[in-house]
Amino acid sequence: MTCTKCEALCASRAQIVEPDLPEFDRPCRVLVIGEAPGADEDTQGKGFVGRAGRTLHTLLEEHELRRGYDYGCANVVRCRPPENRKPTKLEIEACLPKLAETISTSKPQVVLAVGDTAAQVFMGKHHDIGLLQKIQYLKENAYCPRSLLGYGSVLDMKWPYGTRLFVIPHTSPLAWNRNAPDGRKWSEVGAEQVRRMVKLL
Ligand code: SF4
Repeated sequence: MTCTKCEALCASRAQIVEPDLPEFDRPCRVLVIGEAPGADEDTQGKGFVGRAGRTLHTLLEEHELRRGYDYGCANVVRCRPPENRKPTKLEIEACLPKLAETISTSKPQVVLAVGDTAAQVFMGKHHDIGLLQKIQYLKENAYCPRSLLGYGSVLDMKWPYGTRLFVIPHTSPLAWNRNAPDGRKWSEVGAEQVRRMVKLL
């Protein structure tokens, strides 16, 4: 597939990084969604292949979730932003129909949004609260994004019935084990979220 909607990203990318889903029509139990491809992903044409991304795979493998068998990976935008900056609102909006289509066709049991940018996309009017507050809000709402997605948005229209939403910290603070605002390590926050998610699967 080729796409030239985002001028700056077309100039900075080596290739479009398409989502990868479980093979041989296996059900997609979890769809991991990050912000954007980084340098390694841009080079290899596959999401979550850098060092930080591997931390996430290790965490999921501890719960016997295997990439390509149980879960797939995607990004909010499919092209690497220059200097690894965050994608702009316009770039996110340009790529969102593709992401909505991926979620609609793969029908994951759970969407696992990795990091604040990915989480914001799914949090509607609650997009500007902190990551820990987003996690708490989802817990209080049974991880059901129906209460979050704006009516009529492309995500709302394509969201499969029953798919739940979990949020975990970005892979960098997970991998480098930085502190969250509540004093815990981000890695502890991430591990707790994955445990809750696995319990629901
Ligand atoms: S980020 Fe998405 S919409 Fe923008 S050029 Fe890449 S594939 Fe197209």
